Amino acid sequence: MISIFNLLKIIFPPVCVICDQYADYFCADCQDKIDFLYFQPNLPPIEGLIEEIKILGFFVPPLSTVIKSLKYQSLHSLGPILGDLLYKHLPFSNEIDCVTSVPLHTKRLRWRGYNQAELIAQQLALNLKIPYRNFLARQRHTQNLASTASDQERLQLMAEAFTVPVEQQSSIIGKNILLVDDVVTTGATLAACASQLRVSGANKVFAVTLAHEG
Ligand SMILES: [Zn+2]
Repeated sequence: MISIFNLLKIIFPPVCVICDQYADYFCADCQDKIDFLYFQPNLPPIEGLIEEIKILGFFVPPLSTVIKSLKYQSLHSLGPILGDLLYKHLPFSNEIDCVTSVPLHTKRLRWRGYNQAELIAQQLALNLKIPYRNFLARQRHTQNLASTASDQERLQLMAEAFTVPVEQQSSIIGKNILLVDDVVTTGATLAACASQLRVSGANKVFAVTLAHEG
């Protein structure tokens, strides 16, 4: 029996957001054109908090275009494609017990309808055959911090922007957790999330993002 999803794919075949080819939302030819990152960038905020970080590529087209389509054009079908892409290209430690993602503020979540990092993370967890959990919540927008505060103040405000809901706390103790986000710049957001996980008793925090915007 053919599923509704596959039937829809036959009637309305997906078009690649990069090359307009009828193939997939991010076709194999365009995936080959990713500017892959073969080194670990220096991200001081994560030092001592995150065991290791894996990053797929630079934040340039086609990867940046695909990430923007996922975030701003409601193309949530790209989420699983990007989760598969991470799994295909990056090695992950077999110490990892579960996967989580950098949360959106509830207002933004309502506006967008989904958390792009969560979609990517859920697919990655499926591939890694380990559970996905929403361990973190976001209580504050952190977008305008860059212009308002010193480095130290910014890290402090950022750390306070994330919390671990009480009902999640017992599941975190002693766990090695993989934290997923779409893009990393300075590492401050990942560091803030990792510090909350560690305070709640996580043993080790690993991180992975699709792109590095330097
Ligand atoms: Zn393409």
